[in-house]
Amino acid sequence: MDKISIVVPCYNEEKVLPIFFEEVQKIVNNDFKDIAEIEYVFVDDGSKDKTIEIIKGFSKENSRVKFISFSKNFGKEAAMYAGLQHSSGDYVTIMDADLQDPPALLKKMYDIIKTEDYDIVGTRRKNRKGEGIIKSLFSIIFYKLMNLMSDVEVVDGARDYKLMKRKVVDSILSFGEYNRYSKGLMGAVGYKTKWLEYNNIKRAAGKSKWSFWKLFKYAIEAITSFSTVPLMFASFTGILFCIVAFIAIIVIIVKTLIFGDQTSGWPSLACIITFIGGVQLFAIGIIGQYLAKVYTETKRRPLYIVRETEEDFEYKG
Ligand code: UDP
Ligand code: MG
Repeated sequence: MDKISIVVPCYNEEKVLPIFFEEVQKIVNNDFKDIAEIEYVFVDDGSKDKTIEIIKGFSKENSRVKFISFSKNFGKEAAMYAGLQHSSGDYVTIMDADLQDPPALLKKMYDIIKTEDYDIVGTRRKNRKGEGIIKSLFSIIFYKLMNLMSDVEVVDGARDYKLMKRKVVDSILSFGEYNRYSKGLMGAVGYKTKWLEYNNIKRAAGKSKWSFWKLFKYAIEAITSFSTVPLMFASFTGILFCIVAFIAIIVIIVKTLIFGDQTSGWPSLACIITFIGGVQLFAIGIIGQYLAKVYTETKRRPLYIVRETEEDFEYKG
């Protein structure tokens, strides 16, 4: 019998976790009875509420529930990485705790991966219904830019909810970088993917953990992780400005020879100086972003720190 691991990253999800687990268990008992063995890997990403107590409760009543609890909040990327590392299934899926990833799709994904020649069955949202205009606008611009600048394909609307074969999971885990961007990593590992589309679903309970600012930083993260095109910006603007300056010099010399030297035009000069200063700082800022990335990568800090797992819990009895 196949074993399927369900990895669930959780951060402050006390409101929704009980609903989630009930729903998933219902579907698992219906759809996977005598077909596959299920393993749950809950990752508590340093929650400040009762999330870990709830997970421990699940683990007590169901021996198939494993969990990892972080010493502090390390972010969803680290939580997913830890979950994948601790999963042991032949097939692995990642599900959000808020039921935005419909567990009912799992059987369909499993059937496809078993019968058709695919390594990954991914899900993507068809639309952005229920999302603010500004957020949607920025998302659209981000995906356009990202795909323009980067070699790896980043699929718009793709969710982390996907069923993967073991070899795919191992490939993802072999990318040990500190600054992780899953959608880019998925593009980087490749493999054959089938996409299932569905309409955006609202969170069952609780609040989204992503503020606009957090998403913005994540976008910068993504671009600097998977593209070096911004680094060329400095060189290109440098060359452009040299050409403009050269033309300006010729114009001024010719003008002075014909009309003589009039000392005027300092306001325009001030504008030019501030403009060029701005461009220079912007370019230095871009280089700084990459330098910061090199800096955090070379420190080789752990992606997460484990406070306890189900093994410690069993031991304490
Ligand atoms: N999450 C996490 N660590 C974080 C933020 C989020 O493990 O620092 C989990 C969260 O508990 C949820 C999933 O990642 O299971 C998706 O988060 P959320 O629903 O807030 O994001 P959204 O669906 O709004 O993009
Ligand atoms: Mg969500």
